[in-house]
Amino acid sequence: MFEGVLIRAYGGFYYVQKGAEIWQCTLRGKFRLAKGAAALVGDRVRVTPVRGNTGRIDEVLPRKTELFRPPVANIDQAVIVFAVQDPEPNLALLDRFLVLAEHAGVAPVVCLNKADLLSGRRDHEWLRLYRKIGYPTVITSTQNNEGIDDLRQLLAGKTSVLAGPSGVGKSSLLNAVQPGLQLKTGEISYKLRRGKHTTRHVELLPLTNGGFVADTPGFSSLDLPDMEREELGYCFPEFAACAAECKFKGCLHCHEPHCAVKTAVAQGLINQTRYQHYLMFLEEVLQQERRY
Ligand code: GDP
Ligand code: ZN
Repeated sequence: MFEGVLIRAYGGFYYVQKGAEIWQCTLRGKFRLAKGAAALVGDRVRVTPVRGNTGRIDEVLPRKTELFRPPVANIDQAVIVFAVQDPEPNLALLDRFLVLAEHAGVAPVVCLNKADLLSGRRDHEWLRLYRKIGYPTVITSTQNNEGIDDLRQLLAGKTSVLAGPSGVGKSSLLNAVQPGLQLKTGEISYKLRRGKHTTRHVELLPLTNGGFVADTPGFSSLDLPDMEREELGYCFPEFAACAAECKFKGCLHCHEPHCAVKTAVAQGLINQTRYQHYLMFLEEVLQQERRY
């Protein structure tokens, strides 16, 4: 028996990578009967060899993280990509991606691509904001290769997804990091590979420096996940730092008096726009609750 990573599930077979080898496996009967996703791409599994490079998955090891759209397990990090322009960055969308990642327990990295289109300014004010909050950031260009080494290092040894709107350069970035990946860009890129007829299947692409990257963008649904109203504040790390000082336990940092988060916003310690986005997401979470 050996341990490997399930990197692809296709046509009833499960492909498990062990070092440089790929094993074609079936799933032990008891998993097929299990409700829900018995084995997800990204799972660490134990395989019993059958013959040649075929085997049987006998055990799925506990997951660190679990995403359902796309269905993939054990993602360590989400590189959230925005472009300097084409398309213009949308900070509400960036904050939404960050909440999705935080809630899933996936570490976010903020990437500003198309740096070759930066005129004069070498940095973006909003990128400084996210750096101040504590998120790792990277500035890249696939046109002049700026930051590509940094991105390659951020990906090494981890299992990552790239997330971000269409056209920001996710496929181009992966191709720049590892030319052999040959992801299609432009017209028929990354997120569009999943055609109408194809069932949603994710594949993990092995990286030369160790680690994997998913061939499909993370968070294909932008709906906030089901969560308790009190959980949302914890998806904003700079709130969590002062929320302990709020007078009321379970403070939603909204209408409550003596709220340390609101005070920090008034004092300029917490960014006003981040707080506005928090209130917007809180409304969505409350609406979701009402639906049940
Ligand atoms: P995706 O939809 O996020 O996967 O984006 P693509 O990788 O398909 O890229 C969308 C478009 O942006 C393509 O026309 C790319 O050539 C272009 N693009 C990608 N990276 C850069 C970059 O760093 N600078 C510039 N100027 N264009 C880029
Ligand atoms: Zn509060």
